[in-house]
Order: sequence, then structure tokens, then C-alpha cells
Amino acid sequence: MADIIQLLPDHVANQIAAGEVVQRPASVVKELLENAIDAEATSITLVIKDAGKTLVQVTDNGIGMSVTDARLSFERHATSKIKSAEDLFNLHTKGFRGEALASIAAIAHVELKTKTENSEIGTHLTIEGSKVISQDPAVVPKGTTISVKNLFYNIPARRNFLKSNPVESRHIIDEFHRVALAHPSVAFQMLHNGSDVFNLPSSNSRQRIVNIFGSKTNEKLVPVSEETEILKIEGFVLKPEFGKKSRGEQFFFVNDRFIKSPYLHHAVASAFEGLVKNDIHPGYFLFLEVDPHSIDINIHPTKTEIKFDDEHSIYAMLRATIKHSLGQFNIAPILDFERDKGFDTPYDYSKKQPTAPSIEVDRDFNPFKERSKQSNINFPFKREKAASWESLYVGLKDETTAISGLGDIEFESEEVTGSLFENNEAETGQITFQLQNKYIVSPLKSGMMIIHQNLAHQRILYEELLKNITIKEAISQQLLFPLQLHFSKPDVEIIEKIREQLEHTGFIFSELKDETIEISGIPVLILESHVVNLLHQLVQDIKEEVPDSGFSQNDMLAKSMAVSMAIKTGVSLNKVEREHLINQLFACKEPSVSPNNKPVFTTLDANDLDKKFM
Ligand code: ADP
Ligand code: MG
Repeated sequence: MADIIQLLPDHVANQIAAGEVVQRPASVVKELLENAIDAEATSITLVIKDAGKTLVQVTDNGIGMSVTDARLSFERHATSKIKSAEDLFNLHTKGFRGEALASIAAIAHVELKTKTENSEIGTHLTIEGSKVISQDPAVVPKGTTISVKNLFYNIPARRNFLKSNPVESRHIIDEFHRVALAHPSVAFQMLHNGSDVFNLPSSNSRQRIVNIFGSKTNEKLVPVSEETEILKIEGFVLKPEFGKKSRGEQFFFVNDRFIKSPYLHHAVASAFEGLVKNDIHPGYFLFLEVDPHSIDINIHPTKTEIKFDDEHSIYAMLRATIKHSLGQFNIAPILDFERDKGFDTPYDYSKKQPTAPSIEVDRDFNPFKERSKQSNINFPFKREKAASWESLYVGLKDETTAISGLGDIEFESEEVTGSLFENNEAETGQITFQLQNKYIVSPLKSGMMIIHQNLAHQRILYEELLKNITIKEAISQQLLFPLQLHFSKPDVEIIEKIREQLEHTGFIFSELKDETIEISGIPVLILESHVVNLLHQLVQDIKEEVPDSGFSQNDMLAKSMAVSMAIKTGVSLNKVEREHLINQLFACKEPSVSPNNKPVFTTLDANDLDKKFM
């Protein structure tokens, strides 16, 4: 048989290698920003168009490249940063693989302009799909500009695989944050489609965090500082009460490199134990310094994971240091689960007269405690919409064996009688009770029905919100004192984008600017004290996934809001509330599944019970 093995041409090899280095526009951003840092720049500008799909451009005032280096920099395994394998264990630069520029040039249109301090004239180079198109002398300032256009232009499959612009932008901003946080003394600017996203002057670490995440962040930061022989820790944790339901600001840097480490995360989380509820994630910005010899950053192609020689000691030290900081800053002793959360509401009450915090603020704070009081839930009461109690049971009588059969039952809202809720239990013959503050149990003629209160309420709110968003009929409750909330600038921009839909649900925004949101009206469906969490969760959900089409975006909004607003497991419901919930559920178009497709209720047939006693 003839020989069949051949060496791949360089441009093909580069394309394959590119698959590892460049997954999305954000990967290009990361590589170019890191190169600028390695080039000792003191000022870096990132320009993005169409979430990086059309253009990613980074300009720095660093050391620049000579004519030969400019050409060489696009060769694979061409690097000025290491010379031998030993250097791998003494890294002081971000890059070292010499792969990034070669990979990027294989899958995009690239333009490079660069000049060193001492040369009179610079270089202008264009490359497309690894082929040098032109190389000319050029008059340019000291430093380097690299423009990467039309990413994946020659790999349509990869291009099609990219997510929507908001999602890709989110990834870019994440990378930008990571580099900017690690290098506060370097000035950074970021522009997207011509408008300023960030303008960060050279500063210290605390100021950098505040400049990125908004001025209100300052008072949330607790400094952390410790130095031992093997480890130096500097940085901040967020006060426990500013932890979030979703993973928010969690940053580890080791020797100025952003890393992900579930292990070290665990160390931080355990230092917060007892200070935050289980589903709350603490925020942190932690800068660790270790001897470069004691880490191996070479185990992952995109280099966000590293291996420490002495992981256990680092874990223990980190945990102890953070516990100490939390204690020292008097965070730990004042945290008392019975305390009224109203005192640390993270938004600005400055315009309000001090009033006694109302009990409803910590309504669901201790979910396992029974409460005899009525739970203050704002049900979207709309009696005329509720299906009649009786009709539910009529329908179920013949359908007890198959839950799916319930979908066929029509509950016409027109048939509803207003007298339903005035009826007492004896008259309607309906008994409901709550199980573990989680389920509502109701006997049926043929057995019983068990309804998940949280999922049921999600379904009710979801249909209500979706309708409000699309047909715009919601009413607002005017707030006596407008709520002033503080978000980061990009988060405010996200809210601006969905402002119209939010207004359809009943929000009234009196101001939406920079880092401030002022709200003068909120939907009748929610409590004022829930607004902050709701908006945070919404922004987070949008960052994670925004479908492009109008309908699915509304759908997502309604889902996210419904999940945030729904009564939670652990809340005790009185008889009237239980009945309302059931009536409203069965007035829904699809009562049997939650907005996220979980079953809302189940039935237990008397026959099933009988079998248990045989
Ligand atoms: P690495 O960063 O791993 O060395 P890259 O492909 O990212 O590999 O870059 C190759 C080389 O090009 C670098 O080692 C550096 O010498 C040079 N280089 C890249 N970007 C810049 C820049 N912005 N300023 C100066 N030199 C640069
Ligand atoms: Mg590099």
C-alpha cells in the first residue's frame, strides 16, 4: 500500500489549533488584552462592533514590535515570553504559548499596526486566513493596534454557532472585567458600537472595583489581607448581606491571572457559613500571590485553571483569613437570622422618613419556621378570572387516573361566580390543608390532589405577566417614595433595553441613567421589598441567555419574573390564600406544568391508596 500520511499545511494546522484558543469573540478579547498587558502598556482601549462578530480591536501604548517581530508574531509557537521548558515554571507574563495570534489570523481578517519606542517608523501588516496580504511601513504612535475583523469568516459552522449579540457581549465584558480588575494601575477603555461602555482611569484595586461595578459597591467591600511565607492574599469580600441568589461577582486572581477554582471557592464559601443562607452566593475579589514555581498553569488550554503544589494549606489560609476579616469588620456578630432584614435593604431609603420596618420584609427569611400569621402575599387577585371551585372537581371526577387528561378541561372564566370566596367551607364542602408549608393538599371525590405551591404560583404569575407584557394592561401601584436603586452601568443598560416590557407589567421608571434607577411605580403583583432581588435576577437571567426574537424574550422575562415573585416553599398559607391559589391555577391555560416545565400537581387515586393496604 502506498504511503498515505502527510503533513498538514500550516494554515490548516493553524485553523485546527484555533479551535482550542478561539471559541468566540471573547476569546480574542482575552488574548489581545493579555498581549497588551504583557507589552507593559499603561493604557489600553478595546473597541467592539456587533459583540465582536464584526470587529475586536485592541490598542495599547506598550513596547510595540520591530518589523521582523511583527511578521513573526503570527507564526505558530512564536513567542518572546519563554525560551525553554523551565521558564514555564517561572512565568511572569500572561501569554507563553505563542499560539494566539497565529490562531486568530487563521480564522479572521487581521490588521496590525505597531511601532517600538526607538524606531522612527512603524509597521502595518494585513493577514487573512493565515496569508499575509500586505506589509508596509506606516506612521503610527508607539505601541500596537490589532484589529480582528469578521471572526470565523472562513468557518461558517463556527460562525453560526455563535450566540446572540447580548450573550456574546456578556462574555466579552466578563473577560474585560477579569483583565481590568487584575491590573488596576493600567487605564482601560471599552467602546461597543461607538458608545462608551467603560472608562477606567489608572487607580487602585478598590477604586477599580467601584469603577466597574458602580459607586454603591464601595460600602459593600470588606478588605482582606494576609501574608505568609507561601501565600499573600489581598482583596475584598462583599458583606454577607450583599450576596446574591445567582453567582455574581466572584473573582480569584493568582499572580494577576484570573482563575477558576471550585476548591478555593469552597474555602471562601465555607468562611461565610452561617452568615448567608444556603442559596446565597458570597461575592469576592481576591488576589493571591504565590511563588510561580509552586503553581502549574499549563493544565488547561484556555488557562483559567491552575494547579497549586500545596492546595490544602492555601485552602486553610484563605478560609481563616476571610473569617478573620468578616469578624474584624464586625460583620459576623451583627448577623442574626431573626434580625429584621429591613435594616440592610441595599437600596437607598434616603428620601424616606424612618419608619418601623414592617414584618413583611423578612416574610420568607426563615423558611422552615411555621407562622400563624397571614403571609402577606400579594396574590394577583382577579376574581372574575378564577375558575369555579366546583368545576374543578366536576372535571376531575372522570379524569382521576391520568393527569394529562386535565389539560383538556376547559375552565371558562365567564362562568365564574363572584360569590365563591364568601362561601364557607361547609357550603362548598372543600377542605384544603398545607403540608410542610410546601404542598397544598385537597381531597377529590376519587382521591386527592397535591399541588406544589411555589410551582403553581409560578404558573399563575407567568400567564398573568406574559399577558401583561403582550397586551399591556397591567396596573401599577404608585410608590409614595420613589425607590432609588443602584446597579452597574451595563446592568442599567440591560434594564433600559427591556424597559418597555417592564413598564407593561406595571413598573414606572422615573429615571434610568448611568448607575441609577429610580422607580415610582411597581406591578401590583409584587412587594416593594422584592423589587431589588427581582431586577437583579432578571438582569442575571438576561445575561445568561437572551433569545433574539421578540416573543421568546417576553417569554423569558415573564418566566424570570414569575420565578422571582412566586410564593416560596416554607411560606404558610391560610385557607383563603390556598383556595385562591387553586382557583387561579385552574383558571390558567396550562395549569399542569410550571413555566420551566415541571409538574405542578399530582393526584392520588383512592385505588392507589387501596393497594397500599392490601
Ligand atoms: P504569546 O502571548 O503566548 O507569546 P501570542 O501569539 O499572543 O503569543 O503573541 C506572539 C508574540 O507577539 C508575543 O510573544 C509578543 O512578543 C508579540 N506581541 C503580541 N501582541 C503584542 C503587543 N500588543 N505588543 C507587543 N508585542 C506583542
Ligand atoms: Mg498572547
